[in-house]
Amino acid sequence: GDLLQRTTLPGVFPCLAQSVNGVPLAYLDNAATTHMPLAVLDAMSAFEGRDRSNIHRGVHTLSQRATDAFEQARSDLKRFVGAGPAHELVFTSGTTDALNMVANGLALAGDGPPWLQPGDEIIVSGLEHHANLVPWQQAARRSGALLRVLRPDAQGRLHVDDLARLLTPRTMVFAVTACANATGERPPYEELLALASEAGALTVLDAAQAVAHETPQLMALACDFMAFSGHKMYGPMGTGALAGRRKSLERLTPLRFGGDMVERVGEQDASFAPLPARLEGGTPNVAGAVGLAAAAAFIEQTGRGAIDAHLRALRAHAAKGLAALDGVTVLAPHAHGSAIVSFVARNAHPHDLGTLLDERGIAVRTGHHCAQPLLDHLGLGPTTRASFAIYNTHEEVERLLAGVAQALEVLG
Ligand code: PMP
Repeated sequence: GDLLQRTTLPGVFPCLAQSVNGVPLAYLDNAATTHMPLAVLDAMSAFEGRDRSNIHRGVHTLSQRATDAFEQARSDLKRFVGAGPAHELVFTSGTTDALNMVANGLALAGDGPPWLQPGDEIIVSGLEHHANLVPWQQAARRSGALLRVLRPDAQGRLHVDDLARLLTPRTMVFAVTACANATGERPPYEELLALASEAGALTVLDAAQAVAHETPQLMALACDFMAFSGHKMYGPMGTGALAGRRKSLERLTPLRFGGDMVERVGEQDASFAPLPARLEGGTPNVAGAVGLAAAAAFIEQTGRGAIDAHLRALRAHAAKGLAALDGVTVLAPHAHGSAIVSFVARNAHPHDLGTLLDERGIAVRTGHHCAQPLLDHLGLGPTTRASFAIYNTHEEVERLLAGVAQALEVLG
């Protein structure tokens, strides 16, 4: 409790200590991007101001320090996502980059044939962000595999029985989100991954919306690949990781060739380095990796239990208050374990609602949230989405509720 309160003190999150349209900012767009605490900014600036140098290739002191900082960040993050001795973590520029690395790495031939063969089947859930759908569409096209969708029910819920019916001996990949960014739905991903894995598929978890809250733990999951982004967990933009079983990561055909990822290079061919370097061609974002590890440390120091409880309470407060407003429908009202509340209002377009809220200093996101097939399936258009982080307060939820109520009067 104490630690959590300290994170909301002015100055801990510099970007939040400002007014928008003459009103203190209530930043409720955390599912898109969270803000960085000073601890993260300081860690990155200390690296840049003292250790900045290229990694892995130098014997000089700064290069060794930079290499140590990068590899320390990797091992800190592995611990953060519950990786065991059979797991590895590769730095990426984010979730999108990580999911593309998996989909293309399974679809394209490298030294050997690719994992995906013509006639194989890929199953993706119908809750996915475009980043966990479009790469699979492309992978299917490139490999001749078939793409099947595990559709949610009319309330946007996924069912384990439905997956059991979709699985066949040709199912080679199953991909699902740990939390749907458009609705806040928290699917039973543990059971889904376990079932697909037992059936022989490689399993992919999009943890973008779960990494900062109820963080999935690799050792407890039947998960081959888990993707996440730094900017949704109080870390820097353009950072992220692909973590997973080392054996499965080894199956990925490398897609980015160049320095650092090779072992021996001749004029006509090259052999590739072992993991993790194999999938990290070129100079990485070292300051970003340092910042990402600092963000994980910040979450751990604040206390995962306290964070999870706080975010659940904010979500419940907002969902209840919004549902009580005339003409408002909250998506996934049953969802627990998410920090997202997405809603539609009978007589108000989300764009207008978002604009009126901004006039009151309240930042929410409106639109399709990069999940068009899901909203189509639910018979919905664009929505308004509020999403919470550790620095948000119940007073900000009250401001949201009052703001929406007033906007609906103006627009109605
Ligand atoms: N998956 C989900 C569930 C997301 O919410 C997002 C970001 N909105 C992404 C993937 C893509 O993340 P990034 O843009 O950081 O690559």
